[in-house]
Amino acid sequence: MIITEQKPFQEIIDSLKGYTKIFLIGCGECATTCKTGGEEELLKIKSQLEASGKIVLGMCIPGSPCLAPQIKTELAKNMKLLREADAILAMACGLGVQSIKDNDRLGLIILPGCNTLFGAVMDAQGNFFEKCSLCGECVLDVTAGICPITLCSKGILNGPCGGVNKGKCEVDKDKDCAWVLIYRELEKRKKLDELKKIQAPKDFKKATKPHKLILAK
Ligand code: SF4
Ligand code: SF4
Repeated sequence: MIITEQKPFQEIIDSLKGYTKIFLIGCGECATTCKTGGEEELLKIKSQLEASGKIVLGMCIPGSPCLAPQIKTELAKNMKLLREADAILAMACGLGVQSIKDNDRLGLIILPGCNTLFGAVMDAQGNFFEKCSLCGECVLDVTAGICPITLCSKGILNGPCGGVNKGKCEVDKDKDCAWVLIYRELEKRKKLDELKKIQAPKDFKKATKPHKLILAK
């Protein structure tokens, strides 16, 4: 899941300077779940925009605006209103914003209403935690399923560093050292020998952006 936070309203209104008729697009998946781009949030931003003198022509919440078939369908359904719009305000992550731009045949101005923060898992209480940095070369097999790239403050592959103190991280004393967690987990699994293997430096070519995966023939 991609985690977003709504931009401060002043920043949104500044970005809409010069545009009066606005169309809102949310996201029925991640941004709805983290309460930035669902119906409630769109209705709230609509009334804030109207109170600031903007005209909100309409809104839609595609299931996943980052998926071309879904956003194309929603744009087509709302074509009449979109033809009148000066700009689209997208309450979605940066993937959603760019997917809307790529699939909008009218070439409208698409502005982001959210900041995109990180990829996360959600716990049963609805809290979000970053667990993976999408490094392209997963080492969870040798780190007992705990990601050192993301959970260690220094992202080190052979830890812990010299700063670990009573199981806590020297960078953030409230945080458990990821490498202590890895040690404890390997100990439980009777696999402490794994720690004797020195992990080779990562191949950062695999982190070269932009990534792509072409499946269509
Ligand atoms: S090592 Fe960590 S950052 Fe890399 S793919 Fe695995 S979980 Fe993600
Ligand atoms: S104390 Fe542990 S988590 Fe913190 S930087 Fe060092 S190895 Fe990483």
